[in-house]
Amino acid sequence: MISEIAEYDDVLAEPAGEAPSAPMRVLVAGGAGYIGSVVTRLLLAEGHRVTVLDDLSTGHADAVPDGVELVQSDIADAGTVLGRGGFDGVLHFAAKSLVGESVSNPAKYWRTNVCGTRALLDAVAEHHVPRFVFSSTAAVYGEQDAIPITEDAPTRPTNPYGASKLSVDMMLTGECAATGLGAVSLRYFNVAGAAWGAGERHGTETHLIPLALDAAAGRRGPLTIFGEDWPTPDGTPIRDYIHVADLARAHVSALGAARPGRHLICNLGSGQGFSVRQVLDTITDVTGRDVPQQVGPRRAGDPARLIASHDRARAELGWQPQHDLADMVRDAWDFARGLANR
Ligand code: UDP
Repeated sequence: MISEIAEYDDVLAEPAGEAPSAPMRVLVAGGAGYIGSVVTRLLLAEGHRVTVLDDLSTGHADAVPDGVELVQSDIADAGTVLGRGGFDGVLHFAAKSLVGESVSNPAKYWRTNVCGTRALLDAVAEHHVPRFVFSSTAAVYGEQDAIPITEDAPTRPTNPYGASKLSVDMMLTGECAATGLGAVSLRYFNVAGAAWGAGERHGTETHLIPLALDAAAGRRGPLTIFGEDWPTPDGTPIRDYIHVADLARAHVSALGAARPGRHLICNLGSGQGFSVRQVLDTITDVTGRDVPQQVGPRRAGDPARLIASHDRARAELGWQPQHDLADMVRDAWDFARGLANR
């Protein structure tokens, strides 16, 4: 593990955030996926004992680092792992996360993201696990007038994916009050980059940065910009991009910040917005390659602007992002090239 991480010393050199004082035993549900596998690496590097539960429906067994037990199973079976006893926390990444698919197949999203999480929470309660950290999303907010978006903004998701994540946030509020669980929902804005040898390897890729990097590398055709008639300075939508290494540090801090009976909700974003065109320009600056591109129609359900307020994460988790957009692009580019050369 150390030699693998050493290749990414530019990222590892950063302080690792507010780690809980004592090593914990944790279950990472969805730890073979993109964000879960990065968080697993950081937990391990900070001395925690990690078990990954993942059905490998979208994750990869080889994304789970050495030293971590992988239990290949559905989250509904979490009780068989948690029943061994001694778990201090669960971090829950196991979910379906394609917005378009959630519109065409909403049942899959309610079943996996909501019913699956309910089963996981039943096991958490049955086996008295005190801490729960949940991957929520900015998609719970939908289109907002007030920017930056705070956690007190009205929630109005525009698709079943966002609605399913919001349902779990609501479920957790009641769960904490009723059972004394300490939970933290982390509402991610646009996550990008790679860290410690783990990165994005989605079978179906829909996100801007990996698609644009693939186009720049000639691995796929031109990137389609989804509309340039938006009410923004250059006509393309604005998003708040956050490095996955920064996101990982917030999860470790959240584990330490979980308090019995409290459900804390924190946005995780940089607090800065970049348009699609600014992202493509950054990719050209970092990689030295043009991004072949064409302009297409708007994508259904896309808001014009999403920018986070991360004041609460700063106050409650002692967290602030340390990487900028160029870092995200460089690390994602290096990771994708490493994969292509395997
Ligand atoms: N986008 C685009 N072309 C693509 C993919 C994304 O123009 O092929 C735009 C999309 O409209 C949005 C931004 O890039 O404004 C980020 O989209 P992404 O799917 O990465 O994340 P989202 O904001 O939807 O969670």
